[in-house]
Amino acid sequence: EQFLKALPKVELHAHLNGSLGIDSLRDLAERLNGSASDKFLELCFIRSEKDLDACFETFTFVHQLTSSPDGLRYATELAVRDFAHDNVQYVELRTTPKATANYSRREYLEIVIDAIIGARKKYPYIMVKLLPSINRAEPVDVAKETVSLALQLAQTHPDLILGIDLSGNPAKGRFSDFAPTLAKAREKGLKLVIHCAEINNPLEVKEMLEFGMSRCGHGSFLTMEEIKQLKERNVPVECCLTSNIKSGTVSSLKEHHLKRIMEAGAPKVICTDDSGVFDTTLTRELLLATETFGLTREDCIALTLEAVHHSFASDQERKKMVETVVNYAASLL
Ligand code: 5GP
Repeated sequence: EQFLKALPKVELHAHLNGSLGIDSLRDLAERLNGSASDKFLELCFIRSEKDLDACFETFTFVHQLTSSPDGLRYATELAVRDFAHDNVQYVELRTTPKATANYSRREYLEIVIDAIIGARKKYPYIMVKLLPSINRAEPVDVAKETVSLALQLAQTHPDLILGIDLSGNPAKGRFSDFAPTLAKAREKGLKLVIHCAEINNPLEVKEMLEFGMSRCGHGSFLTMEEIKQLKERNVPVECCLTSNIKSGTVSSLKEHHLKRIMEAGAPKVICTDDSGVFDTTLTRELLLATETFGLTREDCIALTLEAVHHSFASDQERKKMVETVVNYAASLL
């Protein structure tokens, strides 16, 4: 575990509001309300297995803490802090811009950007990028606004906003309704990460694979044929073990599709998804993969280099990350 903790890790699938650990949630609640009730904090966590709908409900509690500019700003800093403490050297944070009584969607993104820039100074070890998310449970017009804001803000922050994520409850909304908006984002240079095959919906998976994506979120219900297709296109599956178990989309760690993906020699990255809500860390996810599938240290280093390769960082940033990992591996010899 010490080896995995110290490994300079790369996190490619992390939702901002799901990435606040218990200490950070407590810090945040105390800062905003003066105190943190244990009862409230319990609602922000998933301890035992739940269904996917219950998981989505959990986010509504965390969202209460980030519904003000101050809460959102501080939460962003804390999420970065939590990843930095876990020795994550690079994280692509994704988040759904929301409009509340206290901020607009544009202001939401501006606050998060500002907080990331501040956190970069405070935690210089970690590189942080941003992928605005489209929540498929919301109307297409909201998605259009999100893409338009992402494109505008990417002009002023080209090293920060790198892509668009499609997430939200997979039982809601239709992919085909969002496809034209996502296509526009891609035409204008944003990368696409899409939650795909998170539940069993073969027709939608087919549509998504035809449409294409840079990385596939979850992929729990991909068939072997589809995994092969992703392999041919060099599209990795973002595997989130604890998340899939706790949300009940995968029945056990042993049955996790990471195994099939590895056997097929297809690309994959190991990610946390929501390290706060699912009470995990990237170290822990790598440890679970190691214990379940008998991975070696070399495998974990290879997995990290694979994540570097599939990140949306610049060539120079990726070179730096590879060096950091290689130096770490060399220091163990
Ligand atoms: P936020 O976008 O508010 O920063 O992060 C939380 C949101 O991300 C959730 O409300 C949900 O829309 C999305 N999300 C987080 N985890 C998952 C997941 O495992 N699957 C899907 N489809 N969406 C998720």
